[in-house]
Amino acid sequence: MLNVDLAFRKLAALATPVAEIEDVVLADAVGRVSAADVPAPIDLPPFDSSAMDGFAVNAEGLDFDGQKRFEVIDRSLAGRPASKTIKGSTTAIRVFTGAVMPRGSDAVVVQEEVAVDGGIAHTEVRIRTEQNVRRRGQDVRRGDLVCRSGTHLTAYRLTWLAACGIESVPVKRRVRVAVFSTGDELADAGTPLAEGQIYDSNRFALLTLLREKAVDTMDMGRLPDRPGRIRDALERAAARADILVTSGGVSVGTADYVKSVVEDMGNLDFWRVALKPGKPLAVGRIGDALFFGLPGNPVSTIVTYLLFVAPAIDLLVGLELAPPMMLPAVLDGDIKHSRGRREYVRGILRTKDGELRVTATGDQHSNRLATFADANCLIVVDDDHGDLHEGDQVSAIVLPGVAAHPFREGVP
Ligand code: AMP
Ligand code: MG
Repeated sequence: MLNVDLAFRKLAALATPVAEIEDVVLADAVGRVSAADVPAPIDLPPFDSSAMDGFAVNAEGLDFDGQKRFEVIDRSLAGRPASKTIKGSTTAIRVFTGAVMPRGSDAVVVQEEVAVDGGIAHTEVRIRTEQNVRRRGQDVRRGDLVCRSGTHLTAYRLTWLAACGIESVPVKRRVRVAVFSTGDELADAGTPLAEGQIYDSNRFALLTLLREKAVDTMDMGRLPDRPGRIRDALERAAARADILVTSGGVSVGTADYVKSVVEDMGNLDFWRVALKPGKPLAVGRIGDALFFGLPGNPVSTIVTYLLFVAPAIDLLVGLELAPPMMLPAVLDGDIKHSRGRREYVRGILRTKDGELRVTATGDQHSNRLATFADANCLIVVDDDHGDLHEGDQVSAIVLPGVAAHPFREGVP
């Protein structure tokens, strides 16, 4: 059986980035991936400005202690520069945060350190050139990159682009992801369950998780356990979508047709990964589309989506993938693990006395959504590792979409 890393490498080789590039306005670019290097069109800040409310002076020749007097000859507000020029060390211009540094000035004395009396500013503090001055181009120089090709566009980065006056950015086109569930036992919420039926939660999980990605999702509904119907549906979807995701029907049961249908009509690149949960994962191609046959148990569906489908989407839109953020944490409680498969255990990470601690959420069977509900991370147990014990150092990855608040203790 393929181990997780090898399986991912095989997948990465299949996930060729889409070619089409489009320009999107900044406001619509969040979550997208830049498709070109973006240079700053201006210096930022665009001019030398004051970092504080205070008095702009020429500090040269003033680097002594003791009483200093300045005649206040003008003022410079944000967006309304002064017209006068500072000459020598006896004049000052009132300035405010973000205002243009007056000609001839090279330092700002904060207003709290200045006493003004009849148009004369007094201070006793030492004044150094450059103090409280933001120099032009300090944040970025014109022509330097504010974004490299293949960068995930976060609100934080896009704000930097916005500050440079950039209106739009080239990105790969949105990837289209078609989502199916399979199984004769599935029912929709809102209808009563007949004997043997369960509600379809996998399609819900996938469509909901996909909302965190800048993709176009196609909800393809439920497929019965009938090879002909599965084949037709996949064939039609493959003509329109870049990625097809099914759940169920990839195990070794009598009614598990998905895998054999894909083998028949397309190409199954690999099936079964040394992974828990999610062993029966099937990955292949149908026409030009990438195919993911996710295992049917809801926990397996979610974990294989996170480990394989989500990064494949990123690769298709040209993202330079960074290694996963593995947080070192101390384990509370024990985790049973039999060697042979890498296990991703639902867990809860928290800080305690300045240390990251993690605990498993309980019964880890792949149908147990209760133990996903409170989870904020997956604890990674390596393939060849035995049982884990209280106090062991482990690694955990934070689940996307988990809220955290920035305060130190509780909510103020
Ligand atoms: P399968 O591999 O198709 O036999 O599915 C494995 C298990 O997952 C079975 O218990 C299925 O009933 C369950 N399952 C499959 N698809 C879904 C779904 N869309 N929502 C919830 N459970 C599912
Ligand atoms: Mg099934």
